[in-house]
Amino acid sequence: MEVDAQFVRDVLEFGGKTLKKCYQCATCSVVCPQSPEENPFPRKEMIWAQWGLKDKLLKDGDIWLCHQCNDCSEYCPRGAKPGEVLAALRAKVIQEFAFPSFFAKILLKPAGIVIYFAIPILLTLLYLAIFNPEIPSGEIVIGNFIPHLHIELAGFAVGGWALLVAAIGAFRFWTAINSEVSKVYEYKLEENAELNVVKSSPRFIECLFWSVIDVLKHSRFAECGTSRYRYFAHLMIFWGFIILGVATLGDIVYLYGLGVEELALPLSDPVKILGNIGAVLLILGSGWAIVARFSDERIGYGTYFDWIFLSTIFAVGVTGIAIEALRYAGSVAAYYAYLIHLILVFTLIAYAPYSKFAHVIYRTLAYTWAKSTGREPKK
Ligand code: SF4
Ligand code: SF4
Repeated sequence: MEVDAQFVRDVLEFGGKTLKKCYQCATCSVVCPQSPEENPFPRKEMIWAQWGLKDKLLKDGDIWLCHQCNDCSEYCPRGAKPGEVLAALRAKVIQEFAFPSFFAKILLKPAGIVIYFAIPILLTLLYLAIFNPEIPSGEIVIGNFIPHLHIELAGFAVGGWALLVAAIGAFRFWTAINSEVSKVYEYKLEENAELNVVKSSPRFIECLFWSVIDVLKHSRFAECGTSRYRYFAHLMIFWGFIILGVATLGDIVYLYGLGVEELALPLSDPVKILGNIGAVLLILGSGWAIVARFSDERIGYGTYFDWIFLSTIFAVGVTGIAIEALRYAGSVAAYYAYLIHLILVFTLIAYAPYSKFAHVIYRTLAYTWAKSTGREPKK
């Protein structure tokens, strides 16, 4: 076993400041609603993190079965906040598996906020310098300022980059958690050899399917006790993004399938309704999560990793609604709000593999791994 002191320092910096208070009483593992009977978490993760056992933690799928419900933190007699420590470990895992890793290291530090915004701002300035669009006079029509085709091409480029980088991180993560199966769960594998063939088994598809259903329904989040709000807030953000994705597809169909020239749709249009519902869900979900972090100390204030993600989602929702309101008000400020909105959307999509957004992939894979290996919550 190799001890990595820097790993411990990073976990402390990512929000696991209470880590060293743990004295291994195991109360947390008993109360955790997500933990299996055998080899439960998060007690073992607490000691691994204290000792700096980076290799074990990177290969530990259990970290991703935690939803930070904070039931464990509520009962921990030492105030070690294992829920927060596991959140810090997840941030560290994302940083370790992300590609290129140096970029993840820059972005995940508070000082990296300069780079975080400098890239999209410089790209926007470059675009403005090349195409020199003028603020149109008269009726507010966004497409007359920046053509929709330019936005879609940029969207494909940024989305393609994010997908590629996310796929690399997901592959590294999947390989890591499966490499540990035979070591940590050896006793189970002896009982049932089937469990040892996660990677090649046709059960992978079946387990992945049911994991996606779990994620869509947020069924594991629904078991949260102490931080029950997380179920509702997370559900709103999650479905807000899905609905906005459907609305974006609707826009593309309008433009290239039905030949609609401008997306200044009336409020009663189905695609517009979907877009507005998605934006409101993002604002409510992220707003609720932000307020809860201020108002309930059991949840924990969170870290830069949480805050940059929640604030960006909130700002994307608010600027989206602001563009619409300014357009109806006939104000040219709608064009400036649009530029700010584009910069924020860029940060959400391009940095998704390095941000809390990556949870959706890592957690789905961890569910798949857990179902494949019988790591189901205790009854
Ligand atoms: S984190 Fe708290 S509850 Fe869990 S083992 Fe450590 S001291 Fe006990
Ligand atoms: S935060 Fe909730 S899910 Fe995570 S380890 Fe603690 S009790 Fe379990």
